[in-house]
Amino acid sequence: QEGERLQKVLARAGYGSRRACEELIEQARVEVNGEIVLEQGLRVQDSDEIRVDGLSVATQSYQFFALNKPAGVVSTMEDPDGRQCLGDYVTNRETRLFHVGRLDTETEGIILLTNHGELAHRLTHPKYGVKKTYLAAVTGPLPREVGKRLKDGIELEDGYARADHFRVVEQLGKNYLVEVVLHEGRKHIVRRMLAEAGFPVEKLVRTAFGPIGLGDQKSGWLRRLSNTEVGMLM
Ligand code: URA
Repeated sequence: QEGERLQKVLARAGYGSRRACEELIEQARVEVNGEIVLEQGLRVQDSDEIRVDGLSVATQSYQFFALNKPAGVVSTMEDPDGRQCLGDYVTNRETRLFHVGRLDTETEGIILLTNHGELAHRLTHPKYGVKKTYLAAVTGPLPREVGKRLKDGIELEDGYARADHFRVVEQLGKNYLVEVVLHEGRKHIVRRMLAEAGFPVEKLVRTAFGPIGLGDQKSGWLRRLSNTEVGMLM
């Protein structure tokens, strides 16, 4: 049997629970390819045009999740050595999920998971220039020109690394919280840049991946991205 059941597709597109979506079907409010469907459980494909009350439904079967990865969790779906990994935070195992890039084990914050393997890969490619935002705790005092230095480019052993933005978010005595935005993804890049500038990172959190922000999502929690958010990524 190809395709997915209509009520399930509607539920995922935001039309309420599966039961609520069955009611929409019962009430003759759902059309597939121009015809009202009254039958429950009709299987539909991505290419089918679905409408509710005449309005077309975004039926992407691609799923995206944002996890707020705690420190100490490795960025793999499974870990043969039994360390804590991303897969431990995913309860929805209907489809195989891929992680979009990696965070260091000690880095916390947003990491996207998706069943769209190709997009997962594409989003990590520097060519697409997805901007990632990090908050780093460092010990100052920070000289005034540190932002300019990071934006001009810091020479690392594997070439220059540039920040798109830099700002001090908070300062308490010698303790600073700084925000760094960059669009590349070399290993340990933020830690290495700040260390090279003279400020080893004590704690690092990724607060946004492209247009998707962490907000107040709790550590270790997974949330499904909205259709609007998915649209911003595609
Ligand atoms: N830069 C780092 O140093 N660590 C990460 O996890 C991500 C970016």
